[in-house]
Amino acid sequence: MLDGNYDSLLVLFSLAVAILASYTTMVVASRIATSSGRPARWWLAGGACTMGIGIWSMHFIGMLAFDLPIDLGYDLLITLLSLLFAVSASAVALWIVTQEALTHRLLVAGALVMGGGVAGMHYTGMASMRMMPGIIYDTTLFGLSVLVAICGSAVAIWCKFVLRRRFAKATQFRILAAIVMGLAIAGMHYIGMAAANFPANSICGAAQGGVHTHWLALAIIFAVLAVLAIALIVSVLDQRMESRTALLAKELAQANQELTYLALHDNLTRLPNRVLLEDRLKQAMERAHREKSHFALMFMDLDGFKAVNDAYGHLLGDMLLVAASGRIVENTRGSDTVARVGGDEFVVLAQVDEPTDAGVLASKLVAAIGEPYQVNGHELHVSTSIGIAIYPGNGENQDELLINADAAMYHVKGKGRDDYCFFEASMTTNAHGQVQLLQDLRMALKHNQLALYYQPKFTAPHGPITGLEALLRWMHPAHGMLGPASFIPLAEKTGLIVPIGEWVLDEACRQMAAWRDEGHEDWTIAVNLSAVQLAHSGLVEAVRGALDRHGLEPHRLVLEITESTAMCDVDSSQAILQKLHDIGVRISIDDFGTGYSSLLYLKRLPATELKIDRCFVHDLTCGTEDAAIVSAIVALGQTLDLRVVAEGVETAEQQQFLTSLGCDTLPGYLLAYPMQADEVIALSDTGKASDDRPAAPDEMELV
Ligand code: C2E
Ligand code: MG
Ligand code: MG
Repeated sequence: MLDGNYDSLLVLFSLAVAILASYTTMVVASRIATSSGRPARWWLAGGACTMGIGIWSMHFIGMLAFDLPIDLGYDLLITLLSLLFAVSASAVALWIVTQEALTHRLLVAGALVMGGGVAGMHYTGMASMRMMPGIIYDTTLFGLSVLVAICGSAVAIWCKFVLRRRFAKATQFRILAAIVMGLAIAGMHYIGMAAANFPANSICGAAQGGVHTHWLALAIIFAVLAVLAIALIVSVLDQRMESRTALLAKELAQANQELTYLALHDNLTRLPNRVLLEDRLKQAMERAHREKSHFALMFMDLDGFKAVNDAYGHLLGDMLLVAASGRIVENTRGSDTVARVGGDEFVVLAQVDEPTDAGVLASKLVAAIGEPYQVNGHELHVSTSIGIAIYPGNGENQDELLINADAAMYHVKGKGRDDYCFFEASMTTNAHGQVQLLQDLRMALKHNQLALYYQPKFTAPHGPITGLEALLRWMHPAHGMLGPASFIPLAEKTGLIVPIGEWVLDEACRQMAAWRDEGHEDWTIAVNLSAVQLAHSGLVEAVRGALDRHGLEPHRLVLEITESTAMCDVDSSQAILQKLHDIGVRISIDDFGTGYSSLLYLKRLPATELKIDRCFVHDLTCGTEDAAIVSAIVALGQTLDLRVVAEGVETAEQQQFLTSLGCDTLPGYLLAYPMQADEVIALSDTGKASDDRPAAPDEMELV
């Protein structure tokens, strides 16, 4: 027999190549699993080639490391056939490891194909030497070599699957699987070599005419370099992609969390808002049903808050609200819900064993809120009025509970404030009507009972029309036409104003687009927004949607926000108004002069128009206090480069005086009442409006 020697450095090199090729293949396998279609097929082909070339190179480096005392060479065709074996087996194995689930059958099949492929490659590679006489194989060692290849493949495939689930340790597992696979390939080779015996008179048939060892060395170096390069590029790309994906996923999760939080909480106090309250209320009712338990719904309103806000400014007002909300939270349990539902209105939802417990909690809250506050160096005082409704008993559903608690709160207000009281049936007269009205209002949208009237705005002193203000009316089936004062507060209290407001926006934009198409290119349409709408996260999208649906240019839409709405929580209203302004929509400050406004904040708002409240216009005669206020407001508006509109012009004297002060626009009953859309066209056709003043609409106010 011929004696063979090994070059240990090359042996180690062959092992390194096997491990490296396996590692690269693991990385590629992950890419196959996360892609689909054509890219997945490309990854599979690339992976199979890498693995196949890796196994093949390992074998021939092993052969280079092996030194026989005769000339050696390799038959080109058989050598290429051995490469084909390695690549095909790798492709099948790769396909298996990227399947959804690893069944026992699949594992066995994968191990047999991969192990068989490695062994097949080895023994075909050996055959390419065309030894004469043939190599004599030791059967036991031969069997062992095939077994090592199959078992090693099984372990590597299993590792690859575990890798998917324990993603946190992906790299360690990948390295482990690559080492196992590399050891299996090299182990198979060297056991296979130990099984081979070369008779003493052997000659290598491929030494002449076959591929010479030098060429083989070159081919291998090329193959190894290719594998190395692919390994490097793929793993770097993969790592980058993985870390970027992980970062993106983290950011997305954070943004989602923040959005959900914002949608369910009040910006200023960070307490749950009405949306979250409604959900908690629903859960509390279900729980009370299930466990036959009670809960109390307390409606709290701060007494004297408006005075503090007006006297010290909204910033201090905001701080006071935060301090008061803190006291409410401190005096309730973690399992209770404290929500802010309006400017200075809070709702507490508390689980109680006995209804009387609610009284104990309420008196604690009244006392806590009544303590003086130290805010920014000022000592401030407010108290609270609390109305309590108990479930079950004081209402069948959420609306009834809220309205009844609200009615009880008003009862406290009427009796001198700074106290609490339980809801009683005697308070229902109004509450009952409100519940009924609310139920009707819920149907109003569905049954098309809402309508818009339009009040023209005239260039001072008497025309032409510059635009219109959309004013909401409800054609109530029993009460006739209702003005906004009789149902908007209720809609705001229950959040119904949001869908109603969206309807108003949509209808107003539709109508304005129609007027524009009829040739009224210079008109604008004004829509009133309530504070609740401004605080609602979907407002900007609703405005954008309404404009898009009717193809209305944003500058034709004016959104009116009352001064007090804009000034309550200035920062967030400023942010929303800025977004609306960025779309191109104009902003108008309505009912100006009635609230507390700091010039500084007014300047920060992206408004283009000021509307002087009609209470100043009402008693306007030269030299009165109102006249001084109006001229100051007009001067202020002009300084800030705002259009000044005087609302509620009813007499010719007012018209003349306001024009002389410098008001730009004059809406009012003197020139036109709010009217239906078709009447507007008739009016604009007649030119001036003052002479044929239309009759006042027949409106019934239900309070
Ligand atoms: P506003 O925005 O200040 O609207 C002007 C109100 O003054 C209208 O009352 C209009 O009819 C009335 N008005 C106009 N000229 C005169 C006049 O010369 N004399 C008198 N005495 N009144 C005049 P309306 O339609 O009852 O609306 C009342 C308020 O309801 C509006 O005040 C506005 O804040 C609110 N509102 C109206 N429509 C909507 C709406 O679609 N959404 C929201 N959120 N609020 C609305
Ligand atoms: Mg208005
Ligand atoms: Mg107004």
